[in-house]
Amino acid sequence: MSITSMTLTALCDALKRKELTPLEVVRSYLDRIHQVEGHIGAYISLEGENALLKAEESMDRLPLQGIPVAVKDNICIENRRMTCASRMLEHFVAPYSATAWQRLERAGCILLGKTNMDEFGMGSTTEHSAFHETHNPHDLTRVPGGSSGGSAAAVAAGEAAFALGSDTGGSIRQPAAHCGVVGMKPTYGTVSRYGLTAFASSLEQIGPITRTVADNALALSVMAGCDPRDGTSVAHPGHFSAQLGMDVKGLRIGLPKEMLAGDVAPEIRTAVLEAAKTLEALGAAVVEISMPTVKTALPAYYIISSAEASSNLARFDGVRYGSRAADYADLDEMYVKSRTEGFGEEVKRRILLGTYALSAGYYDAYYKRALQVRTLVIRDFRQAFTQVDCLLSPVTPQTAPKLGELADPVQTYQGDLYTVTANIAGIPALSMPCGRDEKGLPIGLQLMGPAFSEPLLYRIGHALEAALGPVTGEVHL
Ligand code: GLN
Repeated sequence: MSITSMTLTALCDALKRKELTPLEVVRSYLDRIHQVEGHIGAYISLEGENALLKAEESMDRLPLQGIPVAVKDNICIENRRMTCASRMLEHFVAPYSATAWQRLERAGCILLGKTNMDEFGMGSTTEHSAFHETHNPHDLTRVPGGSSGGSAAAVAAGEAAFALGSDTGGSIRQPAAHCGVVGMKPTYGTVSRYGLTAFASSLEQIGPITRTVADNALALSVMAGCDPRDGTSVAHPGHFSAQLGMDVKGLRIGLPKEMLAGDVAPEIRTAVLEAAKTLEALGAAVVEISMPTVKTALPAYYIISSAEASSNLARFDGVRYGSRAADYADLDEMYVKSRTEGFGEEVKRRILLGTYALSAGYYDAYYKRALQVRTLVIRDFRQAFTQVDCLLSPVTPQTAPKLGELADPVQTYQGDLYTVTANIAGIPALSMPCGRDEKGLPIGLQLMGPAFSEPLLYRIGHALEAALGPVTGEVHL
């Protein structure tokens, strides 16, 4: 097996036993990037020589010593460009590192590069990057999903041992599903958001994208923990790999019937129901349950996330942050021109939507109402978790669309139906491969549990992964 197709867990073991050196590992990844990046376009910036230098220096015995990582380009790394795939930040160099990256670096990880994404995390295909498209490694004519599409594509194509994404409404889980890899949106507060460029602060988390469930638990263990620089972060509640290898006998798994209804493609419904049967065969009890407010989570998400975005993105005015227009007559025109030139279509759409929802006279009708819906969705989950240990659902209503296929924004938003609920409720959600459609494209499933139930989700995911065997087929590049 080539170095670049090894799991993170196997790579760590081989490095620890000194069967491989960090230099060999990093060199293999750089060679692989050289070989396939022209087809994929996963990265915005690459480290190259820098990564080799780091690998040469790498001697200590640290948990992730010598592991090459790709990082979504909305996460700050000191002295590196951080663009958010936006013209606005094209030349921005981060003055400090995000806590999540600092923790990985301290654990021995080596940066390979920063990955492509939808501008400021707004989108589901990575087509809203101001720079270039990213191609799905399973079919180069299709999108990798988004917004962490570069990170998911890099992991699927063997261009990184694992990657960091961020998830405001599905941006880790959805590209993971489309690229046939594993993605976790942790419980709100699990990973510090310090150094993550804010899109919608009350919803988002940084999380790992990996090849296997065990790899994901390992990466999250290193990133998680309380950070005095993020007041919403909480103390590490326990070892994320603790329950790996335990069976699923006696666990109760809920199938929310609203999430398996008309909107989902038949092959995805079938694959998810097959996975449910597999869990039953392993000894779990699968029960159908009803979550009546699920559908209302989507409009609530688009109001809340756009409202927060309109406020968070106010800092990009050409003065405090962001590139400034070259010509302007006065201060107002400077703001207007800088923002007009710096932001893409989708970002402008969200800012307008958010500003409208927050404006005097409409606040009660939209923003306040969305917050009330948020409370109802949280209650629905709470109620569900009195009956079951976790919920099983699709991640996306369809497999990866063709590049350019999703032209209508509202149609695109509807694809987030199954993922936004976990962000609205702040609960953890794991996306993992469970099959392929007749075109050979990966299908993902989602496991959601109560706050801080990551170890349980990893346990169920790990058991399922072992029972299903390899489901997504090789990437041929
Ligand atoms: N697709 C969703 C959106 O466009 C989610 C994005 C995200 O999680 N960053 O808002």
